[in-house]
Amino acid sequence: MSAISDLTALIGEYNLLEKKQAELDRIKAEGPRDIRRGALRIYTGSLYVLDNVLYCIAMKEGLKQLYLIASGPFESGFEGKRLTEGGIHILQAPLTKENSRELRRLFPFTVPVSLRNQRTTIGCGDRLGMASAAHLRAIRQFDAYPVLAQQSIRELNFTGRDFEGVVADASFLVFQEGYEEGWGADGDHLKTIADIDSALDAGMPMITLDLTEVLHPEAAGFDEQTLEDRFSLIDDTIREYILAEYVGKKFSGDHYAISFSYAEAVTCTLMYWDALEFAAEVDAHLRARRGDAYDLEISIDETTSPTLPAHHLFITRELHRRNVAVNSLAPRFIGDFQKAVDYIGDPEEFEQQFIVHCGIARSFGAYKISVHSGSDKFTVYPYIGRHTGRRLHLKTAGTSWLEAVHAIARTDPQLFRLMYRKALGYFPEALKSYHITADLSVLPDIDTLQNDELEQYFDLAPSRQLLHITYGGLLKDPEVRGRFFTALNEHEDVHYGLLEKHFVKHLELLRLPRRNSVREQP
Ligand code: ZN
Repeated sequence: MSAISDLTALIGEYNLLEKKQAELDRIKAEGPRDIRRGALRIYTGSLYVLDNVLYCIAMKEGLKQLYLIASGPFESGFEGKRLTEGGIHILQAPLTKENSRELRRLFPFTVPVSLRNQRTTIGCGDRLGMASAAHLRAIRQFDAYPVLAQQSIRELNFTGRDFEGVVADASFLVFQEGYEEGWGADGDHLKTIADIDSALDAGMPMITLDLTEVLHPEAAGFDEQTLEDRFSLIDDTIREYILAEYVGKKFSGDHYAISFSYAEAVTCTLMYWDALEFAAEVDAHLRARRGDAYDLEISIDETTSPTLPAHHLFITRELHRRNVAVNSLAPRFIGDFQKAVDYIGDPEEFEQQFIVHCGIARSFGAYKISVHSGSDKFTVYPYIGRHTGRRLHLKTAGTSWLEAVHAIARTDPQLFRLMYRKALGYFPEALKSYHITADLSVLPDIDTLQNDELEQYFDLAPSRQLLHITYGGLLKDPEVRGRFFTALNEHEDVHYGLLEKHFVKHLELLRLPRRNSVREQP
């Protein structure tokens, strides 16, 4: 049977054209997540009626499309193929950027929004444009909100995507799941107004401003004389302000008491002043473009040394004085937050410093502490959840790619073996972009492993990191790319299942309350 006759048969079987939205919503609430016939599945979360037209997303043989279905002819702004079958009129619309614009126009819940009023947000980078559905299935079980379309320029370059495409993919998956509670989209680690504009043009409400290039970390190593020389070059009014405002002053709050020596105050000024001025410029730009509907994250995590409490306090006070609407701030924490593996360092020392960072955040508008490279840091999650009081942004990205590769290892061992060998080849190049310390020599030789032993690579830190950072090479590899996407669609249940489970584990360890338990309370 063709896709279309399977589709019309399913519609007939479930009487979908006769149903009102409330009845469709009951199907969504009670399950199943999809209804199937032959090689076709309709995602029940995507069943919507608008002006007597039924909308849904369906997949047939690895190809997902949006379907508009009605018992008579209808007008539509979607571009696609018109078909009729047994008196039913169908428009089969590919999941393109153009069609995503029309989707967002008709269904406002598919437009990303500011989440500045939400306590807990989870950044779910999806390099493939296929993972957001599973992220939603996990996050909607908890009292938290998802930031789905989250990519950095580096990721866009490695994956050959652009911001508009990233938002389009997420919009369709939000529609597929029927998730109406609000989701964010994050132009991640942006450094210039031009890059910020391209994220804003794509409709992204969250901007993670990476201040790395306007910071002067070298100031931390200056001797007294150099500090003095450089400070003397700064504008008089700024110098007078710093001397009066910081030198010899003590600031205390929840779990912190910080005083500034002359050297400390001067070091902070030299390190951060330019960056603070730039942050204020960016904030004004965001406000001009989006009113109050934006989420600005200030990121200073990609520096060489941990953010000292005094520096965090200095940055925060100065942002506050400039009226910058800080929604979240990402310090660099003590210890090592490497990709795809657990926290490396002394958890107790982490907890002590983390308490101080949280106290500083509470003193100035209670912005969210943002934890980057946040996936898989299971040892320290209980501290992160507790000390932030869940006012938290946890940013993850590569771990979802890794679960996609995991799904391949389980379902298509031959393809996984090819990817693993290729990853070894791409590793030296990938190391130039990512800081990790994996020792690959301890890994078992893949030729000695049976197919059902391949998944052990996802329990071993070095192979997790190997597969994590080589996504750029793998996704561009002509022998891998097509087969990989086809296999993921074919084994979507396994892919979604692994991802959902992995995210639920994260959210449970953060001790986020379950939604059901919230509702069940009298
Ligand atoms: Zn970061």
